[in-house]
Amino acid sequence: MTKAKDKEKDTKTARPPVVVVMGHVDHGKTTLLDYIRKTNIATREAGAITQSIGAYEITHGERKITFIDTPGHEAFSKMRGRGAKTADIAILVVAADEGVKPQTKESIEQIRTTNTPFIVAFTKIDKPNADTQRARTQLSELGVVVESWGGDIPEQEVSAVSGVGVDELLDLILLATDLQELKADKNAQGRGVIIETKRDSKRGVTTSIIILDGTLREGEYITTPTTKGKIKLLEDFRGTRVKEATFSTPMLIIGFEKPPLVGEEWVSGSEETISQFSRETQETKEQNAKKTPEGVKAINVIIKADTYGSYEALETIVQSIQREHLLIHVLDSGVGDITDSDLKLANTFDATIIGFHVKIPSTLNLLIDQLKIRIITSNVIYEAVKLFEEFLDKQLSNDKEYLGEFEILKLFSISKKGQLVGGKILIGNLAVNKRVDIFRAYTKIGEGRVINLRSGKQEVKTMPQNKECGAIIQSNATIEVGDLLKAF
Ligand code: GDP
Repeated sequence: MTKAKDKEKDTKTARPPVVVVMGHVDHGKTTLLDYIRKTNIATREAGAITQSIGAYEITHGERKITFIDTPGHEAFSKMRGRGAKTADIAILVVAADEGVKPQTKESIEQIRTTNTPFIVAFTKIDKPNADTQRARTQLSELGVVVESWGGDIPEQEVSAVSGVGVDELLDLILLATDLQELKADKNAQGRGVIIETKRDSKRGVTTSIIILDGTLREGEYITTPTTKGKIKLLEDFRGTRVKEATFSTPMLIIGFEKPPLVGEEWVSGSEETISQFSRETQETKEQNAKKTPEGVKAINVIIKADTYGSYEALETIVQSIQREHLLIHVLDSGVGDITDSDLKLANTFDATIIGFHVKIPSTLNLLIDQLKIRIITSNVIYEAVKLFEEFLDKQLSNDKEYLGEFEILKLFSISKKGQLVGGKILIGNLAVNKRVDIFRAYTKIGEGRVINLRSGKQEVKTMPQNKECGAIIQSNATIEVGDLLKAF
């Protein structure tokens, strides 16, 4: 192990940075990314780019920079959940005419949680109402103090329309890169992250990736924790087919058996290397499963919300729910509407998706039906939580083996002994002294015990299926007509 590490050290070289652009909607992220792409990729090549693969690479001076241009930076936020990092540097875009807005704050939160070094780009400085001083004040109120104000956050004023300041911004990116000493090894096995995945009617599953280490070759095997494949085709972001590629290049590949998840880590190499990775992933999964004590069932959930603040709140509440014999495990969480990647993850790990203020695109309905994915959504956090708790109760009762089900048809009286009720045994039987769980509209509302059973005037010890009977039930819950008592 040490020897291998030493060898690795010898062949390591500088790795170009991977940059993500973040900020409020309409603050100029796309325009800035377009400007950088147009002016820093040779015209002939730029013209050849017909479709974005979610990232592109430019040359500034002699050096390379990879920009992620995935909408919503899904890859960036997903990586957080998996404890790894896609982007080396973030550009926080703040439009000089509007200043700090809600998504600016969220971007700052996200940058902080991932510990990503960042640069502030004040955009739209060509606009007559641009006021960068006001924006600086607002940022400093959030603890982001830029260099011109004596802080340590690099900043640059830019206009994506005239191009003023863009070169300087690229210089700052390279300066921030040098501070990080990003290194990788061309001879190592390929490793990186998934940034986008699409199903193309002509080509099948196409996947955009970023290479963070090693070399990726056509014909090699590739794997992620949820899928694997053999690379049939490797294309650079310009759409040119290549035989091999290295860091930090974005690539489009064809060859995955089924679509991987955005943000997943991949490794490539011989069949043996990737099966080693799969074994390790499997072992980790098994170890995690083993952590669940005997008799306890793990309930996997995926949390989606419209803002960072709200998903963190929802995640905290969900994780604090306690149920005997159940362990809640938040598999993944993120901001944005429910996506097909969420459905695939839910399907792989039999997880429930809990969404707050998010939409389920109608194009996903078919997949949801086919995969039978459980989704709970609400625009009120506590309602989402309540619905999830009801699901947990239902889950617990489904796992319990009941001896019989007794439907309440009539209420007679309540005495010290208990509640005198009448009903019908729908399934199994009911017997004196048995304990019961009381359900109302599929939700468990309480527990009790059968004290007495009567068939007509006759006291009996048990009552069989399909028979009507009277019963005295001792319970802290007040039984109503329509309730279902399940005996155990
Ligand atoms: P995004 O939502 O952050 O990607 O924002 P866009 O890049 O789509 O920009 C929103 C609007 O602002 C568009 O109409 C752009 O043309 C405009 N815009 C972006 N950057 C600049 C700039 O530097 N100057 C001016 N005047 N307009 C800009």
